[in-house]
Amino acid sequence: MRIHLLGTAAGGGVPQWNCNCVVCREARKRGGRVQARTQSSVAVSADGQRWFLLNASPDIRAQFQSFPTLWPQGAKARSSPIEGVLLTGAELDATLGLLLLREGERLRVFATPYVQRLITEEMPVARALDSFCGVEWISPAAKPSPLLLHDGSASGLSYECIALPGKPPRFVKRHTQGEGWTVGYRITDNRTGASVIFAPGVARLDTALSGWLDDCDVLLFDGTFWSENEMRERGVGRLSAPEMGHWPIGGPGGSLKVLAGLKPAHKIYTHINNTNPILIEDSPECEAVMAAGCAVGQDGMAIEI
Ligand SMILES: [Zn+2]
Repeated sequence: MRIHLLGTAAGGGVPQWNCNCVVCREARKRGGRVQARTQSSVAVSADGQRWFLLNASPDIRAQFQSFPTLWPQGAKARSSPIEGVLLTGAELDATLGLLLLREGERLRVFATPYVQRLITEEMPVARALDSFCGVEWISPAAKPSPLLLHDGSASGLSYECIALPGKPPRFVKRHTQGEGWTVGYRITDNRTGASVIFAPGVARLDTALSGWLDDCDVLLFDGTFWSENEMRERGVGRLSAPEMGHWPIGGPGGSLKVLAGLKPAHKIYTHINNTNPILIEDSPECEAVMAAGCAVGQDGMAIEI
């Protein structure tokens, strides 16, 4: 399986258009210590020809442009190697890219029934798409299932949906308690048996999640915030990391302590907010991530398993 990190930033990207924080300022400098990043999305493929997207970021157009493998192939006037989009939630940075795919064929979107409802009713992207390409909804399975191409044939990949502790998006005023606010996916290559877990939004560690984390070869994990009160400390927001549905990396209760002890060969933080000091290449926080055997995700990273 080929795994290509199209984007590795949280909502807003790096730098964010209106942000003057130390990280964003550094990202705007030529030769600075922070690499610019687009909003989080991943492309996976078993054969290098047919691809599935994990989330559709608002930067999708630039991301496709930067990865020629996703350009139209063959002689048809219009085509795309994208076979479907798997959504981890209804957050704007994970879903607005769907609107930018409206010129193509009917979009196949994997999303929990809760997320399907939000995208149709609360933030009616799907309703808008119905006037263009339309959406074929697929409720993701919680057990390993073949990830089929749009013609129903095998892609060489299997997938399963992982329920995660999370939060409903901020634009949802009324919501019901229940499952499906935030999920992750494990994608497995049927030939090699190798797998990747994509979990860009994890509010906290629970027992079910602990069981999953060791059971993959590549872990693409929530790297949104370094510390619990990062937004407040940078003077750019009031909500804490857990209040925004993200488990911070640093500190005694942070995810880095847990990830350091996990077996996967590749443990990569993604969905990194522009306030996060791990983005500064020689910062102590970035060095701590690397010393723990983990990596800070960068746009364009490619892994084959
Ligand atoms: Zn910033």
